[in-house]
Amino acid sequence: MGTENLILLLIEAGFYFVFMVAILHMRHQLGIGVFVAALGVMHFLETYLAAVFYIELPFGVISPGSSVLFSGKLMMILLLYVKEDAAVVRAPIYGLLAGNFLTVGLSFFLRHHQTIGAVPGRVADLAFIDEMGWLMLWGTMLLYVDSLAIILLYERLGRVFRKSTTMRFFVAGVVVLTFDQIGFYAALNFLNGAPIAVFWGGWIAKMMAACAYAVLISVYLYYSRISAIPVSPRPISDIFADLTFRERYEDLLDRSGRDALTGVYDRSRLEFEAPRMLSSMMAAGKPMALMIVDADHFKDINDHFGHLAGDSVLKDLAGRLQTVMRSGDRLFRFGGEEFVVICEDLGPEAGRAHAEALRALVEADIRRPDGVAVTVSIGVANSYTDGTTLNALLSAADTRLYAAKSAGRNRVVAG
Ligand code: GH3
Ligand code: MG
Ligand code: MG
Repeated sequence: MGTENLILLLIEAGFYFVFMVAILHMRHQLGIGVFVAALGVMHFLETYLAAVFYIELPFGVISPGSSVLFSGKLMMILLLYVKEDAAVVRAPIYGLLAGNFLTVGLSFFLRHHQTIGAVPGRVADLAFIDEMGWLMLWGTMLLYVDSLAIILLYERLGRVFRKSTTMRFFVAGVVVLTFDQIGFYAALNFLNGAPIAVFWGGWIAKMMAACAYAVLISVYLYYSRISAIPVSPRPISDIFADLTFRERYEDLLDRSGRDALTGVYDRSRLEFEAPRMLSSMMAAGKPMALMIVDADHFKDINDHFGHLAGDSVLKDLAGRLQTVMRSGDRLFRFGGEEFVVICEDLGPEAGRAHAEALRALVEADIRRPDGVAVTVSIGVANSYTDGTTLNALLSAADTRLYAAKSAGRNRVVAG
């Protein structure tokens, strides 16, 4: 008996999942309204089942409405968020809330009708509608909190489980559904006098549902990506890490402001970040070093080996410098063959030594196509001695760069 119910429940979860995911997946053809309206209709069925429909399972008594369907809906809302963004997710949640207020409001008027028994054996049960209405309202208010919580938690968990979408969905589901079970059971107990066995049975079923849906969603995300991009050059782990709207935005932000040739930050990023770094160093009473690194006789490389070979040397140069940046250092392409390096918490003497190390590194490692060493000249400025604005530091470093060039190149000039 209990086992039969369990099998039926699994079939219901699978059927629900495949159906809902199919209309979510086809939202660009069908319109998102199809998915949202289906979610709304399901809400009514869930609440009806949660109020009166209970079954016995090997581990207790549960309602399929709250365990399978409600858990599914919450996971669908999270999946919708992952696929779209918070603005799209808001619509069904507010819609459900509005619809439920309307139900409760209308039943207040319906109560005053004189009804006639037009259909033999059927009597309108307004008390039931009332009760359902309040339960739906309470359920939707919980859903509102649940949805916010599950999205925030999913975001947070991104830092813990970087690559595992399954774990993100599962843990977020477990925590929020536990909270929900407590809240919803409280109302059931208050309105219907539901016994405590209903709480535990429902909780276990919700945990099982969270697990099943997390796995199903991961399988879906995995295969939907693969079929959408048949021959993808991206590694599997990368495809699997489905990004939310915020993560996609940060990814874009990270890629913008980068120089297309060398991949290091560009000048616009320098103008955005340097003043922030400067003020945070000033606030902490710490120095900041700024250096301009300019390739020596770079025009010769272009003239002898062509512009493409010159590009390749620039990439090597930027790539090599990037590998020795420490956590408080930033490398920017300032223009042509000039780079700016900013180092937090680096005083005048340490700044000179660091620049000298960079110069020696380039001379040792970077070669022109004919094997001749590429060298750089570096002008160094410091916020302790040269001023506390980006312009003051750039201008001091530029003057010293010019001095380094005049003195014969392949050298560092600091204050
Ligand atoms: P020095 O700095 O030692 O005085 O000599 P230089 O030859 O490096 O001097 P200058 O600053 O006058 O010339 C820089 C050259 O860098 C000019 C330009 O053709 C080249 N350059 C600038 N941007 C790029 C680029 O993106 N790719 C290539 N291949 N060359 C570039
Ligand atoms: Mg140069
Ligand atoms: Mg130059």
